[in-house]
Parts: sequence; structure tokens; C-alpha cells
Amino acid sequence: MSELSELILRRIRDVPDYPRPGVVFKDITPLLADHTAFGAVVDELAGLCEGIDKVVGIEARGFILAAPVAYRAGAGFVPVRKKGKLPAETLQRSYDLEYGSAIVEVHRDAFEPGERVLIVDDVLATGGTARATVDLVREAGAEVVGAAVLMELAFLAGRDRLAGLDLRSLVIV
Ligand code: 5GP
Repeated sequence: MSELSELILRRIRDVPDYPRPGVVFKDITPLLADHTAFGAVVDELAGLCEGIDKVVGIEARGFILAAPVAYRAGAGFVPVRKKGKLPAETLQRSYDLEYGSAIVEVHRDAFEPGERVLIVDDVLATGGTARATVDLVREAGAEVVGAAVLMELAFLAGRDRLAGLDLRSLVIV
């Protein structure tokens, strides 16, 4: 395992029974609070951005990673948000949750046609959020070059929902 992977694992905290009983939540706030670890993660993700025009961050923790990555890589930042948060005209995608469904949105004019995009989020779980984001960004006219996450929860098989996409996970558990 790489030094960076070990550092990430040391700084992500398991919180049992959050947000509901039986779920072990991966809390990234200790990593964000560690300047060395946060910086190393941002640098690693920025290293994946060669030829990328826009870095897309998924609300909310994806924003925290994607914005400094975009800055570091000399790319623009585009937020994908939960329904009702973006002020101008949007495109939408709905996706299934364990109970019910959710909607993600992006501004209709967020991309120039054919812009090359990297999608960034903190955790890949079932892959539903990332799948909806890929489809949304494509509908908005951009080319999704890949996706990158800090941590992939392999037992939830989210990767299977992103078949054909270049998915980079800094840590897989
Ligand atoms: P998915 O759609 O892949 O099931 O869930 C991924 C989304 O939910 C991501 O946007 C991520 O921020 C959030 N998420 C799900 N489980 C966790 C977790 O254990 N820890 C963190 N930090 N985020 C999670």
C-alpha cells in the first residue's frame, strides 16, 4: 500500500450507526483537518487533471476536494448540487436511494461543448450519485474523462455502475 493510502486510512474515521443504525459512516473531517494529508490528497487528485477543462464536485463533501483540485490543476470548478440549490436554469437527474430517490442538478450552461471533465467526490458507495452525475455532465454537453474518489467502498460495488469509466480511488476498502 502506498504512503498516501496509509495516510488517508489513518485520517478517515469510522462512525458506527450514522446516519442510521447499521451504517458505518466514513468521516473525512480528520483528514481535512490535517494540512499534510489534505494537501497530499489535493496534489494527487490534481495530478489526474492533465488536459482537464473542468473539475466537477458533488455536493457537499465533493466540493471540499474538487475546488482546491481545480485551482491546483488550473481548471474550472463546477458544482453538482442537490435539487433546488442552483439559481439559474438547470438540467436534472434522479437516482434511487435505499429508501426513495434523490435529484442532482447542474447549470445548463456549466460547460462549453466538448469540455473535458473529471468528476470528484469523497466516497463512492453504491455508485448511484456518481452514475447520475456522469449522465448529467454528458447531457450538459461535456466529455467525462474520468472520476476520482478519496475512498471506494468495494463491498457496495459502486464501480459496477460506472462500467467503462476511468475511476480512480485513492483508497479501496
Ligand atoms: P452512493 O451514491 O455511491 O451510494 O453514495 C455516495 C455519496 O454519498 C457521496 O456523495 C458521498 O459523499 C456520500 N456517502 C455515502 N456514504 C458515505 C460515507 O460513509 N462517508 C462519506 N463521507 N460520504 C458518504
